[in-house]
Amino acid sequence: MNTDSSTSPEVVKIAVDCPLRTLLDYLPPKGRAAAELHPGVRVRVPMGRREAIGVVIGRAAESALASGRLRAVIETLDDEPLLEPGLLDLLLWTASYYHHPPGEVICAALPAAIRSGATARAQQSWLQLTTAGREAVSAGEPGRAPRQRELLQRLATDPAGLRTVQLDAEATGWRESARALQRRGWIAIEERSMTGSPPLATSAWPRGPELSPEQSRAVNDIDAEAGHYSAFVLQGATGSGKTEVYLRLVVRALERGQSALVLVPEIGLTPQLLARFRERLPVPMAVLHSALKDGERLAAWRAARAGEARVVIGTRSAVFAPLRNLGLIVIDEEHDSSYKQHEGGCRYSARDVAVRRAQQAAVPVVLGSATPSLETLQNVQQGRYRQLPLPRRADQAAAPSVALIDLRAHAVHAGLAGPVIQAIGRHLAGDGQVLVYLNRRGYAPTLLCTSCGWIAPCTECDARLTVHQGAAQLRCHYCGAAQPLPQRCARCGFAVRPVGQGTERVAETLAELFPAAAQVRLDRDTVRSAADIDAVMRSLLEGRARILVGTQMVTKGHHFPGVTLVAVLNADQGLFSTDFRAAERLAQTIVQVAGRAGRGERAGEVLIQTAYPDHPLLQSLLSGGYESFAADALLERATARWPPFSRLALLRASALSAAQALDFLNAARECAGLQPEARLLGPVSASMARRAGRHHAQLLIEHAGRGGLHRFLERWLPEVERLPAARRVRWALDVDPLDIQ
Ligand code: ADP
Ligand code: ZN
Ligand code: ZN
Repeated sequence: MNTDSSTSPEVVKIAVDCPLRTLLDYLPPKGRAAAELHPGVRVRVPMGRREAIGVVIGRAAESALASGRLRAVIETLDDEPLLEPGLLDLLLWTASYYHHPPGEVICAALPAAIRSGATARAQQSWLQLTTAGREAVSAGEPGRAPRQRELLQRLATDPAGLRTVQLDAEATGWRESARALQRRGWIAIEERSMTGSPPLATSAWPRGPELSPEQSRAVNDIDAEAGHYSAFVLQGATGSGKTEVYLRLVVRALERGQSALVLVPEIGLTPQLLARFRERLPVPMAVLHSALKDGERLAAWRAARAGEARVVIGTRSAVFAPLRNLGLIVIDEEHDSSYKQHEGGCRYSARDVAVRRAQQAAVPVVLGSATPSLETLQNVQQGRYRQLPLPRRADQAAAPSVALIDLRAHAVHAGLAGPVIQAIGRHLAGDGQVLVYLNRRGYAPTLLCTSCGWIAPCTECDARLTVHQGAAQLRCHYCGAAQPLPQRCARCGFAVRPVGQGTERVAETLAELFPAAAQVRLDRDTVRSAADIDAVMRSLLEGRARILVGTQMVTKGHHFPGVTLVAVLNADQGLFSTDFRAAERLAQTIVQVAGRAGRGERAGEVLIQTAYPDHPLLQSLLSGGYESFAADALLERATARWPPFSRLALLRASALSAAQALDFLNAARECAGLQPEARLLGPVSASMARRAGRHHAQLLIEHAGRGGLHRFLERWLPEVERLPAARRVRWALDVDPLDIQ
């Protein structure tokens, strides 16, 4: 062995949870060589006057730090790497692509207990027959408890015992029987460490419906790429059978002994999808989303890492789930902006990271949507992604008929145009269900004094306060501030009155117009948990509710088979925005809301209220559908050189005063120097500049290409960081920003 320290690398590079953009250098612990500290292993290190936990990334021959200043790792916390090399690479790629401190990116991907040093090993409860139990089975015991007898017999088929997660996957309600059997001494319950699972025999699993030719083709084309990176866009309306395709692909991965990662944009969608997966795949699955308790997240993370959970279903952060032997990635509703981390921490796009993960792991990735993002469609045009269209299924109703209702040409009653009210009446009388979409929650967006014109403002934001009638409050939808609903004007004391429509008020109006039709609301004020959504869904499915009034939430993948009429009340918000993505979002929303109508046997009707029926966006959507809109919109983006025909990054800053925020951004702009290729736009105040008492401003960086943008950011950010003004503001970089207003 070569012990010459001048040639053997002796410094360990460690990512610690701190806002530094670089890795930290440490010496190995006393008596150990740097080479013994494998990448992915957690270590405890001194950090200033405290201790921190970090992850080993690599080693180096020497450090830029003087050797006297180097400190040593205190101890290692893992015998084997916590993160396998592929996942560690992905996390480092994410840190570098989004220009975020690697220690923060890695730590944010770990459950809290793992971050603070808990063991990564999963323990599992196993059930096993005792000798007495085996005799009881032969004797046909217990005679009068069929469920207990069934469980005993099930255990007798597996001499090695069964995991509780396996029993959970097969049936519910076995725990009570198990407790009774344990009391009689027939079974034992013990804890064992988990081990990975072998390929699964799936022949006895529930079979799905016969696939349509397009579904079969999709399954076969994607599955043919097993073991290679390849990206597919599965494009089909709600109900066209995308989930069925995902299920078949997951089964094929499981048969090969691989695991699958399925991403969904919203927590609200996981229970629906999970129930569907549970029905068809009797294997342990893990669910990962932001609403989990720490203990639940830890258990799910460990189960995935141990190879115990073969399928992981989760929202954004699940893209970093430590799956073993990954064979497939599915990104459902890939166009959904929830995949992008909007604020706080590393602003990554889980969709883009997932595609990167598929590349690194050499597995196929499926991007599903009825309305793929323009970025994704451009990837199709350029041959990077393969498009697999799923037409409406033959056993489904025809596509809904869509019509624009000109708000200028009809009497409007509390936000509802005459023809819309008539149509609602007609569909209710015809035994249909009605969905009314309005992207504004609360009772009314404005509280107005009819004498002096005063409008209730938020004192902390440049925003009006929204009236919430039921809660008798005024609330700010930007900072969350709330106050009692005043009866009189704060300025002149005259009576005040709510102006405009929110979902709460539309629901009230509909209750007056159609008192016999029970209704439910779906917005953030009325549903807070997955269980609430479930309750709304059930009342619709069981036909108890006839009218659904909802915000954006109704567009998120939920199936409303009984809905025959969809009314979109305010399409115009997205037509004249300064955000170049507004049109895309509006088109997606309209198509997604419209897609809720006319499932089952009946064709649907969609009515869109607008004051601009001649607007080219609405016309192109109506005449040619999303495809035609997307083609037009991509051409427009190419002309204007917006993404995906250029790359953007947004430097955002906020401070107590506008001057501080803008000074910092101006200084940042100056230290960029002259950039022949990058265009720096701004700084400007954000479109709603004051939020929660802070002034927000931004500087937009545009570059023709990804590589150039990143080389620029790499040079520029360290300089920005060193600016004295940087210490007086909160700032963050957003690479590939979705929201640039
Ligand atoms: P999507 O994910 O595109 O909304 P789903 O896969 O959920 O579509 O399919 C919608 C409904 O149609 C589900 O109830 C599903 O079981 C059913 N379905 C899907 N594919 C078929 C098929 N080939 N034949 C019959 N029913 C199908
Ligand atoms: Zn007044
Ligand atoms: Zn506010």
